[in-house]
Amino acid sequence: MTKGMVIIGAGECGGRAALALRELGYDGPVTLVGDEPHLPYERPPLSKDAMVADAPLLKAIASEAVLAERSIRHIHSLQAVAIDRAAHVVRLSDGSVPTYDKLLLATGSVPRKLPMPGLDGRCVYLRTFNDALAIRAHLSAGNRIAIIGGGFIGLELAAAARRLGAAVTVIEAQPRILMRGVPAEIAEIIHQAHEAEGVKILCGEGIAAIADNGAEVRIALAGGHDIVADLAVIGIGAIPVTGLAAEAGLIIDNGIAVDAELRTSDPDIFAAGDCCSFPLAIYGGRRVRLEAWRNAQEQGALAARNMLGAGEAHAAVPWFWSDQYGLTLQIAGLSDEGRSIVRRELGDGAFILFHLAEDGRLVAASGIGPGNAVARDVRLAEMLIAKQAKPAPEALGSQTVKLKSLLAA
Ligand code: FAD
Ligand code: NAP
Repeated sequence: MTKGMVIIGAGECGGRAALALRELGYDGPVTLVGDEPHLPYERPPLSKDAMVADAPLLKAIASEAVLAERSIRHIHSLQAVAIDRAAHVVRLSDGSVPTYDKLLLATGSVPRKLPMPGLDGRCVYLRTFNDALAIRAHLSAGNRIAIIGGGFIGLELAAAARRLGAAVTVIEAQPRILMRGVPAEIAEIIHQAHEAEGVKILCGEGIAAIADNGAEVRIALAGGHDIVADLAVIGIGAIPVTGLAAEAGLIIDNGIAVDAELRTSDPDIFAAGDCCSFPLAIYGGRRVRLEAWRNAQEQGALAARNMLGAGEAHAAVPWFWSDQYGLTLQIAGLSDEGRSIVRRELGDGAFILFHLAEDGRLVAASGIGPGNAVARDVRLAEMLIAKQAKPAPEALGSQTVKLKSLLAA
């Protein structure tokens, strides 16, 4: 008898996987289990302009009507607490026990915590819709917002907070913002944009102590100064949610380890999205874990195909974007694989950096510019990366050579 498909984690990846199972014609039971109280929703708006807009902040991936029409059973506000692999059963926090033929773990990631005791309601993290609502209540003109971590969460939120006139200070431990994965030239442009908008950025600053008395936060910097704020938002990275998988005896390796088809060390259990690490064939099988919206979507859909037996390997080129003020940053590929960089001007201050490996292969492209200025070229670069092309550096840098022509070559 068909037990059906169970998906744990009703986020971007889990939500897309459930929809994909139906789009692929699967007609057995589909159960989507999430511990948040909401419909599956998009996280990217939670750190961007939507935070300060009048429009609703919760952007659902599928409405209740769509889930019902596709017979997707969405169980919300409950946690999956154990997997009995032999019996093909998941135990939920209310004691119920859905059974599965194939199981997908799409448990995502959670904010890395500062290792300091005594942080109260004025020191917060941003991952969920509820976190965003709590932060939004503090984003008003004149309110002092301290952001710990000059990564994507911190910088996008700084831009949103400035739109409402909050006084924002970003504290970054590294010598520059966006140290990991974003080239220095591009990080510098983002840094300047923030300073021009009145954000104070302190790089190379460790934190000696934080005192949170429930009314305000005092952050003592290792360099000697104190920052006093009405709210401190901590954005110092994310860690994959692997506890359930580890307890079930699945292999963990910087996330739940899966093969190219997203299968874990148990052939009936798949994992996808932020929670898993997987081998990327275009980079020689290097094992990576991606924390990006498009990856969660693509892997959700791929996991659904493979749960139905497609046997398809992950082949997508990593890609993500960030919006801050009027600027959009897009990065395709893995820039740390590059050994040299070629710059191409795109006009209006926009440019793209091509990252080339020692053997001449294009391994990444990082672009920044106003609005959508870099989108088309990053998309073409992505196709070149997928082809493992070795375009001539002079051609990449030339404004007169069309990227499309390199693709044809
Ligand atoms: P998640 O979206 O984290 O979903 C996992 C879900 O599983 C969660 O709801 C979690 O509570 C639930 N869960 C975990 N364990 C259990 C359990 N045992 N039982 C039941 N439920 C469980 N990426 C970009 O590329 N561009 C952006 O601009 C961008 N902006 C972002 C802004 C913010 C504020 C955040 C937080 C992330 C952003 N990202 C962005 C990253 C992107 O949203 C994530 O990569 C994506 O959400 C990952 O999807 P996922 O389904 O793997 O995990
Ligand atoms: P992140 O991008 O990894 O940035 C965290 C930053 O904080 C890093 O620069 C990190 O430096 C720094 N840091 C670490 N410990 C610190 C400390 N003690 N004091 C000060 N700074 C410290 O992570 P994030 O911004 O927190 O984002 C969390 C998650 O949301 C990630 O999954 C991210 O991908 C996702 N997200 C993505 C986007 C986007 O893609 N546009 C937008 C928002 C959120 P080190 O490198 O040294 O650790």
